Amino acid sequence: MFSSNSIDGLIRAFMTLPGIGRRSAERIVYHLMADPHSRITALTEALTKVDSRVRRCAQCNTLAEEELCPICSDPRRDPGKVCVVAEPRDLEAIEATGAFRGLYHVLGGLLSPLDGVGPRELTCDRLVERAKAGPGEVVLALSATVEAEATASYLMDLLKPLPVRITRLARGIPAGGSLEFLDPRTLTQAVAGRVEA
Ligand SMILES: [Zn+2]
Repeated sequence: MFSSNSIDGLIRAFMTLPGIGRRSAERIVYHLMADPHSRITALTEALTKVDSRVRRCAQCNTLAEEELCPICSDPRRDPGKVCVVAEPRDLEAIEATGAFRGLYHVLGGLLSPLDGVGPRELTCDRLVERAKAGPGEVVLALSATVEAEATASYLMDLLKPLPVRITRLARGIPAGGSLEFLDPRTLTQAVAGRVEA
């Protein structure tokens, strides 16, 4: 416990972030306190801006500042292909490869019954609606973890009755592997060489 309750509270707040333990949280807070006026103001402004401006794209559910994200509102993208990912950061990883020119659908997580995440917590229904509206192909671009596999097979059951081609990313994703940590070349190959699901 620190002599200042507010500083202790700030350290605890940083410790709720992924990958930040107590030591890192303390380093961040000491860094901020070394020049509180400019550093804390800049951080506060950046957080407030994100909080007030960023929302979910009405079509694909990724993070966006407008009703539709820049990808969904880009007429050069191919609406005949919809790539399903778990999180916005997976979309960014595939986008960075430049290997996919279709649209995306962000589930908002993966099925994980033990954590209380069922189909209703994800955007599965909206995916089915989009698939009914007729893209030719739905690409399941999920990681190779247990939750991702369970989610993929749940989605395949949902989509199979629909007149849509279902594909999955090809070779190169190691078992247990997380999409966002794949090197761009492997991810590019996985997108290019996708296979029937
Ligand atoms: Zn979008």
